[in-house]
Amino acid sequence: MKIIMLGAPGAGKGTQAKQIADKYGIPHISTGDIFRANLKQGTELGKKAKEYMDQGLLVPDELTCDLVMDRISQEDCKNGFVLDGFPRTIPQAEALDTALAKIGQKMDYAIDVDVPDENIINRMSGRRACLNCGATYHIVSIPTKVEGVCDRCGNAVVLRDDDQPETVKKRLEVYHAQTQPLIDYYKKQDILKTVDGTQPMEKVFDAIVEILGA
Ligand code: AMP
Repeated sequence: MKIIMLGAPGAGKGTQAKQIADKYGIPHISTGDIFRANLKQGTELGKKAKEYMDQGLLVPDELTCDLVMDRISQEDCKNGFVLDGFPRTIPQAEALDTALAKIGQKMDYAIDVDVPDENIINRMSGRRACLNCGATYHIVSIPTKVEGVCDRCGNAVVLRDDDQPETVKKRLEVYHAQTQPLIDYYKKQDILKTVDGTQPMEKVFDAIVEILGA
């Protein structure tokens, strides 16, 4: 099962993608996590990506596509995968389709987690992330057990630079201009499914399972 999660930054697609990966036993591939891991390791890719990420801009397609194509060609992806944060532009979607077509495959589902902008802005201000292990929380809906401390690794959780209010506004603009056209792209391929992302997380997941099958 090959799944793309679509939705604005902060729509909750990452949380849903992780749960899908667990339930269906397929890898969760988040380009944002890959860039952040590179940044933490101080790689050239990480340094380049940071310049864009901190401004709420997209990392150029040429830095993004190859790394995803490389990842999905690995052995653990042979039964499928869930992409979270990729594709984010039409050229990325085309690159993905081309790479899959070469091996006689195609994506099965593009799930759009639909949330209006005003909800996104409120949500993002409460988001907290552990810069050590990548775990994400929300001060209201997914709080850490001890305030400010990551449940998983014990490091501090913080408001990420790219979740700062001004950056969030920029990311939403970028989303509408560059990523939203993918909704039509996948509608035309007849694989688009939309779920109401304003519902509680469990309900969103139930709606996704209904689409994918138990
Ligand atoms: P995310 O954690 O998915 O919200 O991604 C955080 C940031 O990483 C984005 O705001 C972009 O700067 C960058 N990024 C992640 N995925 C992509 C992608 N597919 N194309 C370009 N930039 C990306």
